[in-house]
Amino acid sequence: MPLNRYSRRHKRTFGREKPEPEVYLEEHRVPPKPDAYWTQEKGQCRFCGHVIKKENGERNNRRNWHEECIDEYTYIYHPGETRKRIWKRDRGYCAGCGDTFPRKSRHHDLKWHVDHIKPLWEQKGKKFDDIDLDYWREDNLQTLCTECHTRKTSAEATERAKLRKEDK
Ligand SMILES: [Zn+2]
Ligand SMILES: [Zn+2]
Repeated sequence: MPLNRYSRRHKRTFGREKPEPEVYLEEHRVPPKPDAYWTQEKGQCRFCGHVIKKENGERNNRRNWHEECIDEYTYIYHPGETRKRIWKRDRGYCAGCGDTFPRKSRHHDLKWHVDHIKPLWEQKGKKFDDIDLDYWREDNLQTLCTECHTRKTSAEATERAKLRKEDK
């Protein structure tokens, strides 16, 4: 993981006001960011909020992320990166029908999707502290072809509608 590429990209938001909603909104696809992302000081990790130390135990003021935190952050908050990694893992093998799909295709029917096994809408309306980040982690992600993805999404929509009715 080229650390610099991402540190640079994130520097631009440093010190700015939170431009994002505090709670997870479904249309965003990624969770809200931790408070540390906005209040970060030198030597403090923007993901976990803890101090970053050098090997000798001193505070490392030249870093904004722990190596493992930037890695996790990138996986969760950059869908393009997630897609790349899921391709590496699954190679286009659809978890629904078992067919294999090309990395890139202009044909709708040949496209593949990064699907969240436990659907993201279950996290809707939650603040960062209440959110279960496992929903965005590798174990909850699978490759689905367009047909299988559509089938799963519409099955979920039916289930949701049922839940809503029961709520009333
Ligand atoms: Zn960290
Ligand atoms: Zn499929």
